[in-house]
Formats: sequence, structure tokens, C-alpha cells
Amino acid sequence: MKAVVIHAENDLRVEEMALPDAAPGPGEVQVRIRQGGICGSDLHYYQHGGFGVVRVKHAMVLGHEAAGVVAAVGAGVTSVQPGDHVAVNPSAPCGQCRYCLAGQAQHCLDMRFNGSAMRNPHVNGLFCETVTVAAARAVKAVAPLEMLAFAEPLAVCLHAARQAGSLQGQRVLVTGSGPIGALLVMVARHAGAREVVATDVADAPLAVMRRIGADLALNTRTDPESLAPFGVDKGHFDVVFEASGAGPALAGALAAARPGAVVVQVGIGNGDMSVPMNMVVAKEITLRGTFRFHAEFDWAVAFLASGAIDVRPLLTEVVPVAEAVRAFELAGDRGRAMKVQLGF
Ligand code: ZN
Repeated sequence: MKAVVIHAENDLRVEEMALPDAAPGPGEVQVRIRQGGICGSDLHYYQHGGFGVVRVKHAMVLGHEAAGVVAAVGAGVTSVQPGDHVAVNPSAPCGQCRYCLAGQAQHCLDMRFNGSAMRNPHVNGLFCETVTVAAARAVKAVAPLEMLAFAEPLAVCLHAARQAGSLQGQRVLVTGSGPIGALLVMVARHAGAREVVATDVADAPLAVMRRIGADLALNTRTDPESLAPFGVDKGHFDVVFEASGAGPALAGALAAARPGAVVVQVGIGNGDMSVPMNMVVAKEITLRGTFRFHAEFDWAVAFLASGAIDVRPLLTEVVPVAEAVRAFELAGDRGRAMKVQLGF
């Protein structure tokens, strides 16, 4: 089968790999992957060989946003049958460590997350033609596969939104208008936010933000003072989602946040970010992190299948897997691309 393999910075190859065992084992499901979304972290592996302290140390199949069709089920599996459309949950916590037992499976001490180099040896990803997973990780829905491949990033955003508490009636700022920022705008709208403002340093993604329901989309590069009106009288926004991973975006957001606001840091930069801590103190800001997701994956599939969250405006192009390098180049061009998917 074909697989998309990262070897090192700027060394991405489409390779032939051995198929998994012909029949799935008890409790397992074999899925033919049809769509795979390229994520910012996949791009970090491609462009920089990793992010932060996470580096690619050996060849690894990329990908953790995937959907496909059930090809075969093992003994005892009743949740899906061959032919079903499924989103594949890339998260495989151990279920037994102290964090799994405490309901914080995203912090599992023995996590196997597809297409992540955090663990060594790395766990291969989902950008390949066939995968075998535990049945609970193949989440069925009657929906187009291009939509189901958004389940993973949407789950990330639903988890981030939970860190902020109720968004009902809240004034929300989203800094960073890539796919995660865009999904956060959708999640905030879906959760009843009163006002949603987005920022970025590029015009093309801001145009998408306006189309999907942001009240205002501001370019803080061409208009560095665009957030200044929101800083009057100590600030305006009740909730901030910082989705760019850029220090200046966080600083600008803190200035625009009202005293007592919750700021959720969603984005991860290529290095550590600096935090204007005096502003956090003086405005009694609650600064929270958010990492991956757990239960929210199934919620994301449900919202996509029902149409409650419509991600269609975010899909730029489905590129055949043979052209994976072109797909990654396109995904890295923010002037042209929001979400690029590989088609298998
Ligand atoms: Zn665990």
C-alpha cells in the first residue's frame, strides 16, 4: 500500500509499505483510508523536522486527520460493518495509567497517537491506504468522508472551548485564522457566543473567517492598531482563543481582553512563547492551556454528521496521494490554502 512518510526536514516521500494483517483481530476494525487532512503539525514535521522538543528521529508515516470506509471487522465488533463511513480517532491512550483512570486520557503516560514523534520509536500515522484500529476508534457516521476527516481538528477545538467554560453570550476573540482558528469561530458560534472577532497577519484566511460567521476579521500586520479600540477601558473580550502560537498575537489579545477574561492558548509555536505576565496579573486573567481531546472526538463526528457544524467552506482541495509533496506545499501557502486533504 502507499503511505506518506516523513524522513527529515523537507524530505517527504510517497512509499510502498506492507499491508497490515489480512484480517483484523478480535475487537478490531480495518479501515480503507480515503481522506487525510494535512495539519499544522504535519507541516511542522515537513518544514522544520518537528516542533519544540519534538523532532523526527526516524522515518514515520504522517497523518492524524483521517476518514475512510470499513473494510473488515474482527470478532465481537458490532459498532460498525463493512461499507460504513468512519472517522478514525488517532488517539490511543492505554486506559490504565493514573491519568487515563482519572478521566484525563489526553495526558496518558503510554499514549500512542498516530503520526506523532513525541514517543520514540514514533507511532505511524494514518496517511496510508489501510489501517487496523480498535473498534472504538472507528467512529461511524452517515456523512461525506471529506467532512469526517475534520473530526480530529474539530475535536481539538471542542476541547479548547471546554477550557473556557460556557460561551453563551460571550464576546470571543480568536487570534490566528488557520483551520483551527476557523473551527474555533464555528464552535464559538455553535455554542452561542454573542460576538466573534478573528485576527491574522494574512488577508486570505481572514476572508474565510468573514464567510463562516466572524463578525469582524482584522489584519494585525497591515493594520497594527486594529485591536486598539477593544483595549479601551481595560478591554473588551470575555474569552480569547490564541490559535497562532505567536507571542505578539498573545500580547495583543491580552491587551484586548477584559479584566477576569479567560485566555485559552491553543497554538504551539516553533519555540517557547513569551507571556506579558504583568498584564495577566493586573487584569486577573485566567490563562489556560489545552491539549488534544478525548471524549470530544465522538462529539465532533456527531456535529459534522448532523450539519450542526458545516466545515465545507474550509476545504481548499483534495490532492491525490501521489502528489503528496504538492499537497504539503499547497497546505503551507496561507495565501491559497485553508485545509488541504490527501485523497487515497
Ligand atoms: Zn494511560
